[in-house]
Amino acid sequence: MRKLHKKTVHSVIAAETSEMKHERITTLGKIPKEGRLERYLREPYQERTREEIFSFWESIFKECLEFVIFKLKPISLPRFRLNFVLDTKNYEEIEKEHEKATIVEEEAKSPSSAFIVHNRFRATIYVNVESLLALPNVESLTLNLIETYLHEILHACGIGDEQTTHDVLMPLLEEFVGTKLPEDRKNLKASDYYKKRSRGKLGAPKTDRRNTDKK
Ligand SMILES: [Zn+2]
Repeated sequence: MRKLHKKTVHSVIAAETSEMKHERITTLGKIPKEGRLERYLREPYQERTREEIFSFWESIFKECLEFVIFKLKPISLPRFRLNFVLDTKNYEEIEKEHEKATIVEEEAKSPSSAFIVHNRFRATIYVNVESLLALPNVESLTLNLIETYLHEILHACGIGDEQTTHDVLMPLLEEFVGTKLPEDRKNLKASDYYKKRSRGKLGAPKTDRRNTDKK
């Protein structure tokens, strides 16, 4: 485990963020050689500036998007924009603001790691950087970043509710990283993490969140 790397990422991106408690994270046993994940893990974080790290994370997003387009061939997709929010407090404020103006069908029960605001034409994914940095190492950070991206892209494809999104996501994620995920991770029940909400204004953009923290 590359603990040192993680520490470096942490100091480069946000030296002063407080640790968040993650009780449930997706981890992999063995990282496949020559796979995407191994390539991502070769990134020399310690030699990068914050901007370079974010642009590296943008390049991972591009590959996730291309992968979903290749696999699911969605009829249409919005234009995506990523917004990396450094600290959870700021992130939650942005999330609250969007909640007022958008339709939220399912609400995360505990602080979310990312959310997407989308309509047919435009989608913005807000990533909670502090929650990523609280992960124990670079491997789980990278894997959870990929999972977050795929999850939010699937929302923009209009796949369905949180459970459907999760069920479509798991085999996609396995294929993307080239290895099997732990069974308990795959069999996760969305109802443990999300509660349904009544529908908001018709025609308003939607907000969908991702949450892997166990309540
Ligand atoms: Zn979601």
